[in-house]
Amino acid sequence: MKILKVGDTTKAACNSCKSFQDVTFQLRDTPFNDGSGIVKNVLVGVCNACDSVVVLPHQSTPVVKKQLEKQRKSLESRVPAHMIDILNLASDKLGGGTEFVSNIMKYYIHALSNNKISSNNISRFLKSDLATGVAQKRISLKGRYLEEEVILLKEMIEVESTTDLLKIVVLKINDDLLVNERQKPIGQLKNIMAATV
Ligand SMILES: [Zn+2]
Repeated sequence: MKILKVGDTTKAACNSCKSFQDVTFQLRDTPFNDGSGIVKNVLVGVCNACDSVVVLPHQSTPVVKKQLEKQRKSLESRVPAHMIDILNLASDKLGGGTEFVSNIMKYYIHALSNNKISSNNISRFLKSDLATGVAQKRISLKGRYLEEEVILLKEMIEVESTTDLLKIVVLKINDDLLVNERQKPIGQLKNIMAATV
């Protein structure tokens, strides 16, 4: 792969000019095609004739991806306060702090939606006493595949509300890590923690 520098030139098809034009690579604040946001100061090829952005070089794609990830909506919900306590205790059990809580949630949503952990009958947790309580605390999760995995998991266990799904996942975590101390998920989560902290 050729690494381009600011000021390098090439020729490329310009949609605005409807012809091949000389193009100069420059740092530009560049809007996404769908208008959903802007990538700041990214190296792009600019048409010398009409000043529009015509080339996004390969070396700029990681920056664009990062920006897209930042913009991705987070998954948010309000749950009873004791659910957050469960997550904090689970993280504590693994040797982590509160900052690891969202990783535990994401690990479970991923593993459940991919059948790496059985989701069989987990909606029963919604009927337990621990599923009740006033929703006073916020859960907020962000992740590359989270949205798709949540949609998939909702279909798998036939739950419609995201809040209900998150409650089920929290109570599954409670059951696995705190009540039954299952070694497999504990071991895997410890590995993830070792790799991320
Ligand atoms: Zn042009």
